[in-house]
Amino acid sequence: MRVVFDHSRDDAANIRTFFFRPERPVRFTAGQYAEWTLPHLRPDDRGIKRWFTISSPPNGEYVTVTTKFAGKKSSSFKKALFKMEPGHELAMSDPMGDFVLPQLIQTPLVFVAGGIGITPFHSMLEWLADTKEERPIRLLYGVNNEDEIVFLETFKRSGVQPTIIVSAPSPAWGGERGRLSAELIIGLEKPTEDTLVYVSGPEPMVQALAKDLLKAGLKRNQIVSDEFPNYETI
Ligand SMILES: Cc1cc2nc3c(=O)[nH]c(=O)nc-3n(C[C@H](O)[C@H](O)[C@H](O)COP(=O)(O)OP(=O)(O)OC[C@H]3O[C@@H](n4cnc5c(N)ncnc54)[C@H](O)[C@@H]3O)c2cc1C
Repeated sequence: MRVVFDHSRDDAANIRTFFFRPERPVRFTAGQYAEWTLPHLRPDDRGIKRWFTISSPPNGEYVTVTTKFAGKKSSSFKKALFKMEPGHELAMSDPMGDFVLPQLIQTPLVFVAGGIGITPFHSMLEWLADTKEERPIRLLYGVNNEDEIVFLETFKRSGVQPTIIVSAPSPAWGGERGRLSAELIIGLEKPTEDTLVYVSGPEPMVQALAKDLLKAGLKRNQIVSDEFPNYETI
């Protein structure tokens, strides 16, 4: 489907949300992703297509993508994306993916986001706030430094108080320090047999956490993961 870039919002120094107007309403479930095609001049060998989570909730006027810019090291795709002017067209595939909320609303949920891996949770939390659906959710959000924390308004609006863990904080940071780990996840919220732990973020982080959560006694079907390739671990 064709989508037209409308405007963007800077969420942090190097993180931006792009708002696209779709040519017809997009049907998707909060947490899903799509493949986005952005033809541009002289694409590098990573090409003109990327997978991005739809960071907005369903039924909105816009569909959004939230992504990080790596400065000079960025791909030609990211450089073209961050230079787009309103009116620019992209193609978006049908949404897909099963990193979505479970049917049973009473299922205890632990959301674990590493950096930009917060995007599917943003869609879910906005959707829950829009529909006034309450679920038992604990959110752990790991970032490298506090400048990379985004979506605080959404956490407030959804009533989900995040535990933010910063790996390289400034001396002024008064919150949790360190890295996301299975011990931390289990220590903060002792999982019951029906708890589901959703882990989203850079591929190496998600894989390492899933392995450690299994070692710590969680069953495979209690872990739902969403891996973003091409990001270093946080
Ligand atoms: C299901 C799914 C959902 C996703 N959702 C999101 C999302 O919501 N937001 C988001 O930002 N990303 C998301 N991603 C990841 C996204 O598709 C890109 O892989 C990611 O944004 C990196 O983009 P880029 O390749 O343009 O690299 P850039 O962001 O431009 O670069 C990032 C850094 O990685 C290095 N790098 C990147 N690729 C390579 C490579 N192949 N070899 C060596 N070094 C490399 C770059 O040099 C740079 O330092 C998702 C991926 C999947 C599979």
